[in-house]
Amino acid sequence: MKISLGKKSFEARRVFCIGRNYYDHIKELHDEVPEKPVIFMKPETSLVMEGEQIKFPMHGRDFHYETEIVLLIGKEGRPDTAKKAMEHIAGVSLGFDLTMRDVQRYLLPKGLPWELSKSFDQSAPVGRFVEKERLKDLNDIEFFGKVNGEVKQHGLSKNMINGFDVLVFEISRAWKLLPGDLIYTGTPAGIGPLKHGDQIIAESASIGSFSWKLI
Ligand code: ZN
Repeated sequence: MKISLGKKSFEARRVFCIGRNYYDHIKELHDEVPEKPVIFMKPETSLVMEGEQIKFPMHGRDFHYETEIVLLIGKEGRPDTAKKAMEHIAGVSLGFDLTMRDVQRYLLPKGLPWELSKSFDQSAPVGRFVEKERLKDLNDIEFFGKVNGEVKQHGLSKNMINGFDVLVFEISRAWKLLPGDLIYTGTPAGIGPLKHGDQIIAESASIGSFSWKLI
């Protein structure tokens, strides 16, 4: 999928996601704090641009929103250090890691792969990207997840267990970074179910406000 950033344009072919990156969210799901970042992927067909409608999935019932900061990689390579990993980030946006919670609850205890619960079509709405340089401090981004106008999630990037530098660095150990790679960086507390007709909004004063309608 084509992603614009200022005058540049990127082809997003890979979507990386980070699980369990905020303590308050780990607590609400009664999960364990991971020793290393939990990394998983979604296919390109999971992406939904702003304004497109999202069809309620057919393979589960408990359809949850997770509001997240999304990074856009602009530079190819494998950074030597976490500090240098920051140079590979070109843009920042917001999105949702949509999750079939009932399917996940079935898969997780059995130790089965969780793609069915996380990586289905249209599971990754993503907003417009702003250039990294336009944000004063990447570690001080405040964002909100709303459903039908009501605030459900309030996140602060400084509360992440692993910062953007560590996340990008850890991903690059296994996958050489490519321009256009997207990274969903985890969700804070307040996740919950969606129903037909709901409107989900991801919002931040420094990034923008992006919404999608469920049909
Ligand atoms: Zn997530």
